[in-house]
Amino acid sequence: MTQDLAGKVAVVTGGSSGIGLATANVFIARGARVYITGRRQSELDEAVAQLGSQAVGVQGDVSKPADLDRLYELIRKEDGRVDIVFANAGIGDVAALGVLTEEHVDALLDINIKGVIWTVQKALPLMDGGGSIILNASIVASKGWANWSVYSATKAAVRSFARTWSADLKGRNIRVNAVSPGVILTPGHQKAGLKTAELEEFYTYAAGITPLGRNGEDSEVAKVVSFLASDESSFVTGSELFADGGFAQV
Ligand code: NAD
Repeated sequence: MTQDLAGKVAVVTGGSSGIGLATANVFIARGARVYITGRRQSELDEAVAQLGSQAVGVQGDVSKPADLDRLYELIRKEDGRVDIVFANAGIGDVAALGVLTEEHVDALLDINIKGVIWTVQKALPLMDGGGSIILNASIVASKGWANWSVYSATKAAVRSFARTWSADLKGRNIRVNAVSPGVILTPGHQKAGLKTAELEEFYTYAAGITPLGRNGEDSEVAKVVSFLASDESSFVTGSELFADGGFAQV
């Protein structure tokens, strides 16, 4: 694989599973050194063992600003800078309007919105040399799927950040883009509170609205994120790429 990320230092939040792990894998294959974060130490250790010596695991929760401070302080000491941030950590959870709970709403807002804000803002002091920030949104930002209201709203916010932050960072040589994957087969769906039959039905529906007639793979999203991380996309900022292996209809 081309070594176009050689010498670059990357951060992937939620890098121990699914899209984050697949992206860390491609970043490393293309030459980057990658810091991955995750909440559970055992899963993080397994991911680092799989990724090899160019991966560093830092346990932490993106909804806790102090954990992010610890991450960036370590990177400052070890590498002195950050070139690429993939703000990927996020949770999906379903609940219908009428039975939303404070716990459901707070968890989604804290991780999917506030976690992205602090992940990015706290990286900026280490990005004086410019760089690329990629946010993981979702096609649900522009869908109206029943029961997904709060999750969808968090992803609409993320999508908006790519536009506004690219303007905020104009002149600093830092690009900000979002990817909006369609339905990607990752362990994330098992955690979203759907029963097995509901999940199968959802996968069939989602494949049906995708031009290729199938759901996406995490490795496919990783290729799109790697393009946005690389200098090959140096002219792209404030954009959103639909990345699901089939470019789902929106
Ligand atoms: P996943 O569950 O396989 O991976 C999520 C990762 O984020 C895990 O490593 C998890 O430990 C981590 N994480 C969750 N909460 C965290 C927190 N508070 N702090 C630190 N790490 C945390 O799921 P995935 O499908 O790979 O999801 C990754 C991202 O992709 C999410 O933001 C999700 O919303 C987004 N996404 C997924 C799909 C899909 O269909 N799978 C589609 C569009 C967008």
